[in-house]
Amino acid sequence: MGKLGIFGGTFNPIHNGHLHIARCFQEQLALDSVMLIPSKRPTHKAAPDLASSYDRLMMCRLATAGTPFTVSDMEITRKTASYTVYTLEALREKHPLDTLYLLMGEDMFLTLLDWKAPERICALAVCCVAPRSEDGRERLLSYGKKLEQIGGQYRLLDIPFLPISSTQVRDRLRNGLPISDLVPPRVAHYLREHPIYTGGSL
Ligand code: ATP
Repeated sequence: MGKLGIFGGTFNPIHNGHLHIARCFQEQLALDSVMLIPSKRPTHKAAPDLASSYDRLMMCRLATAGTPFTVSDMEITRKTASYTVYTLEALREKHPLDTLYLLMGEDMFLTLLDWKAPERICALAVCCVAPRSEDGRERLLSYGKKLEQIGGQYRLLDIPFLPISSTQVRDRLRNGLPISDLVPPRVAHYLREHPIYTGGSL
């Protein structure tokens, strides 16, 4: 029986904050593997300047090359919307003996009850949250209680907060500012070669 971490996101683009929490989740939960799953289109938030699925997938692959993480195109290639519950159902079928850990940051965790079929999500996976603010702990604990009321299990991890977002990366690019402190070198290189967020291919 293994422990599989599932880390979904828009990854528009992937940045060092994503990789940092993925590493911490893996260590602290002793996960056997972590799978990054870029969504086709986010279902729980607005997505301005959404790069193509292909570009986002490529950047995830470049960022995780040489790491223990894998990248799946299962949501991008699925005909229906990127609902997490469908992803978990598919992974449960493929990995019937594994425990599934759904990995996410604070902002996403605090919307979980509005996702499609939250009870089913809670039955399929342990929901694991990384802080994304300095003062959110109480909010996260009380939201966790709500998940427990619908039968869910959750884990609030002690992960240092790195204040990086994809929005910040896109803003820097638009303003011609360096991004080397925000994304891995291979992603910075890809973004230099493909001016995705500066009017190139959007
Ligand atoms: P955007 O700025 O475009 O809204 P984002 O930086 O939030 O994007 P997403 O791809 O939407 O990136 O995030 C995927 C997942 O990673 C979400 O669960 C989000 O909460 C989490 N996450 C992203 N950045 C961080 C961070 N710096 N710290 C903790 N969690 C993060």
